[in-house]
Amino acid sequence: MSNGQTPHIIVIGAGPGGYSAAFHAARSGARVTLVEKNRMGGTCLHAGCIPTKTIQASANALETAGRLAEFGIASKNAPAFAADMAAVMARKEKVRATLCTGLEKTCAALKIRLARGQAELQAGRGVLVHTAEGTESLSGAAVILATGSKILNLPALPVDHKRILSSDDILNLAYIPRRLLVVGGGVIGCELAFIFRAFGAEVTVVEALNRLLPLDPVDEEVSRLLLREAKKRGISVLTAKTVQNAAIGKNGVKCAVVPSPFAAGAAGQSAEVETDIVLVAVGRAPDTEGLNLGAADVATDARGWIIADAAMRTTAEGVYAVGDALGPGRPMLAHTATAEGLCAVDNCLGKQAVMTYGIIPSAIFTSPEIGVVGLSEAQANGQGIRTRSSLVPYRELGKSHAMGELPGFFKLVCEEGSGKILGAHIIGAHAADIVAEAALAVQYGLTAADVAHTVHAHPTLAEGLREAARAWISGS
Ligand code: NAD
Repeated sequence: MSNGQTPHIIVIGAGPGGYSAAFHAARSGARVTLVEKNRMGGTCLHAGCIPTKTIQASANALETAGRLAEFGIASKNAPAFAADMAAVMARKEKVRATLCTGLEKTCAALKIRLARGQAELQAGRGVLVHTAEGTESLSGAAVILATGSKILNLPALPVDHKRILSSDDILNLAYIPRRLLVVGGGVIGCELAFIFRAFGAEVTVVEALNRLLPLDPVDEEVSRLLLREAKKRGISVLTAKTVQNAAIGKNGVKCAVVPSPFAAGAAGQSAEVETDIVLVAVGRAPDTEGLNLGAADVATDARGWIIADAAMRTTAEGVYAVGDALGPGRPMLAHTATAEGLCAVDNCLGKQAVMTYGIIPSAIFTSPEIGVVGLSEAQANGQGIRTRSSLVPYRELGKSHAMGELPGFFKLVCEEGSGKILGAHIIGAHAADIVAEAALAVQYGLTAADVAHTVHAHPTLAEGLREAARAWISGS
């Protein structure tokens, strides 16, 4: 593509993967067309990260309001705080709209052409864009597919958008259900369970595997502490269980909760749990409908996820794919998609970029928050690496006491002998921010001694990582 002409790069999908790719390509001198059938921002901005965190900020404010006396704040009128869900949703809409406008302005500033319509691939890097006005035909030097993922439906629990909701639905709910049953104790299920419990709903989580957040990178001790915090807040957690069916009646939904076929040794009683709302949060499915991948010879796996190599190349010459569309074999996170988008553009422009996935941090916005990067003990041991871990509780930090944020810990997984930091597992206040330092340490192969010898400001929560490094060195 380095024939001196300005290359035309077509990016399909304007979520974090697609818009990051488009911005990077435009800043690198390419002519860019960004095709999007909905609004700019993708799942992250409209039905994922941003709405969830905005609503969570309201939930946190309500929790803090409930603890005011603990901080010595009193009122003669003893106010009874409650969430006004219409106002919570209006705030979320405002944040969403502000960020969406920001993305559109960046597009305009970078002279990226935004083609609003449904893209359909053709052989040889051709793209048809179907709009209400007609069909436009585009041809690119390269095409980047960034079409993301959509809700995965369970046949036993068909979403009706009234009683049985998807995560898209619940992020627009204008009231607080009295009872909420969450199917799936993964990232979405756990985040929304804590949020709606903080708003006052009676929450039950049904998870098919043996623990909350049963994801490889999440350390089992993190899951255990999260379970304790869930119980403390009155969230009922049923692990190794699933919902076999749900009968919608006039006054609610009757769910048959049964031992899970997916959990090893799952046993126990079946039970009927009655609820007002069921939230189905059991994973995602590819969003490639109408894209006609076959016409361009873009191969998918058996579940429909696009196949791409570490350079983001699909099976079709000049066609790249990034983000959630690649499926759960890689971390399905907005920042993964962004990194992949940049990688794909570099390769479109003749560089030799490859993605490495081992050091992508995860931020899970439960109460308390979770920040994870690198390997868990189980993963490291599975790779034959001899490890030792250290663990320092939040309650050992002055700042935790000052903030009234005691639950949580910092856990470092290091290679035995060298002390090389392989992973960090933080659960506690602001863990999602604090994990950034650990990500840098893992990325650059730093050791526990490197972190222990770095001066950290006092009093901060970031000191916890240094304390965990010191604990590792002293073997405690
Ligand atoms: P997930 O894979 O994280 O969790 C789904 C959970 O549902 C799993 O724990 C699974 O065991 C369970 N499950 C599956 N079928 C079930 C059944 N029939 N009954 C009971 N439980 C069942 O998927 P998700 O929570 O839907 O999230 C989707 C994607 O979005 C994930 O890749 C996640 O990482 C990403 N996400 C990230 C963030 C964040 O980074 N903060 C937030 C939300 C979503």
